[in-house]
Amino acid sequence: MIQDDLCCTTTGISLDKDGYPRVKWKNRLWRLHRLIFTFTNGVIPTDKVIGHKCNNKGCINPNHLYLTTAQQNSTDAAKDGLYVTGLNHPRFKKAVETSAAYQRYINGESQQIIADSLGISQSALSARFIRYKKENILEC
Ligand SMILES: [Zn+2]
Repeated sequence: MIQDDLCCTTTGISLDKDGYPRVKWKNRLWRLHRLIFTFTNGVIPTDKVIGHKCNNKGCINPNHLYLTTAQQNSTDAAKDGLYVTGLNHPRFKKAVETSAAYQRYINGESQQIIADSLGISQSALSARFIRYKKENILEC
């Protein structure tokens, strides 16, 4: 039985690149919270997304899910100080950029040349690489 106020999370279910539990249902991959929402509330309109009132991506408690627009969802998340995933998020872009830069470095380009091409200093690039290796920010 699901309690109203508690988050309901999963274990042993693989997560997609954005950190949402993902399952296969009727030959399609679903984010689990979207599937749960569909079961409990019906089909999700194509122009809508499912937000988490609790800000817990992994939560599948139907009482914590709500229908919203992608725009509103980003606004809510930003307001709540969350790390918003999405291709246009500045931090995501930076992570992708760092990952690509690191690949170039591994392939033998000098940090100075890479830094110049990104318009940043060599020391800034070096600091990014250290963080990148430590946090393994993103798998690309
Ligand atoms: Zn929750």
